Amino acid sequence: MPSLDELTRDAAALAGGGRVIPIRAHSPAEAEVARQMQICNACRYCEGFCAVFPAMTRRLEFSPADVHYLANLCHNCGACLHACQYAPPNAFAVNVPQAMARVRVTTYADYAWPPALGALYQRNGLTLSLALAAGLALFLVLALALKGTLWQAMPAGNFYAVFPHNLMVGLFAPVFLFAMLALGLGVRRFWRDQAPGPASGAALGEASHDALRLKYLDGGHGEGCNNEDDAFTLARRRFHHFTFYGFMLCFAATSVATLYHYLLGWSAPYAATSLPKLLGTVGGVALLIGTAGLWRLNLRRHPQHGDSAQAPMDLGFIALLFFTAFTGLALMLLRSTAALPLALAIHLGVVMALFATLPYGKFAHGVFRCAALLKWAIEKRQPSRLTLAGD
Ligand code: SF4
Ligand code: SF4
Repeated sequence: MPSLDELTRDAAALAGGGRVIPIRAHSPAEAEVARQMQICNACRYCEGFCAVFPAMTRRLEFSPADVHYLANLCHNCGACLHACQYAPPNAFAVNVPQAMARVRVTTYADYAWPPALGALYQRNGLTLSLALAAGLALFLVLALALKGTLWQAMPAGNFYAVFPHNLMVGLFAPVFLFAMLALGLGVRRFWRDQAPGPASGAALGEASHDALRLKYLDGGHGEGCNNEDDAFTLARRRFHHFTFYGFMLCFAATSVATLYHYLLGWSAPYAATSLPKLLGTVGGVALLIGTAGLWRLNLRRHPQHGDSAQAPMDLGFIALLFFTAFTGLALMLLRSTAALPLALAIHLGVVMALFATLPYGKFAHGVFRCAALLKWAIEKRQPSRLTLAGD
């Protein structure tokens, strides 16, 4: 019986029109994706499932940059694992979603800014726990220092009677701006390595559409992706949407409140029917639903879909988003009671932990996936660089 290496080499030779394509990769995880892509390139059964396979067919070899591009283009829907005739226990041992997941976390770490903080991805559960403990300690101690108690009703339920507005801005603005800078510089390094060429308006539009609709969680046929088994479900896509749009509505609530404060001179607290309150309430409820659903799906996930070593990062981020929404809604309900200082300190501590870990946790997957989708939208509009022998 031929060895696995021989089988892989034969598949690569088939894809390369008789030439053996050398696997160029600089880590075991990247080499494994390159090996599997060369098998898939000979098979091509999954071509209609997602953008990864048509992007793959535009290459005969897979450089480290190609591997990171394809890994982030993969939405981990699981469809190609359940369809694959070469999946384990076959000797080819093709498991594309798992191999891609193992590379993705190295993308986040390798392109992190500043580079030294990429190590935070390795023990992400610990990173999130420490950030949460530090955030909670900061605001509980501050509330005690400023008010001398965590249990006292404030006039009109006014948050600023506990933490002055300028103090909150002074604490949150630098952390949030640093998080955006770190994510921006990280994805810029990724983009430079990809060098996809200029983006047309059509490419930008298509990439935005595919990202906002999570097009590639539909399994290529609109019935959804796989989760615990080979049955298709739209649940993952829908809970992702609840989570993403819930988060964006909460962000919009804060942005509108900031405009009210600085542009119009309208200070909080705002009425229950005001725009910031409505956006925040709807967004918070959506975020609660989305994260609770994703948590449940994540625990039931087929073990071969992903990388079990990343469970603390995945579940930690979902939990942090859930508690951001939960403590925000609890704060709204408790604001006219003596629990206001305690509820506010806990909510702000959770939000601070979320902001501080945005560039060094699962949030990064959305940023790098958007970049990969844009590259695909650009690349598919370009002529293929492959030429057949004799052309
Ligand atoms: S995942 Fe399996 S079935 Fe799909 S293209 Fe690759 S080798 Fe073929
Ligand atoms: S897991 Fe889904 S998104 Fe990823 S390569 Fe396979 S079919 Fe495409």
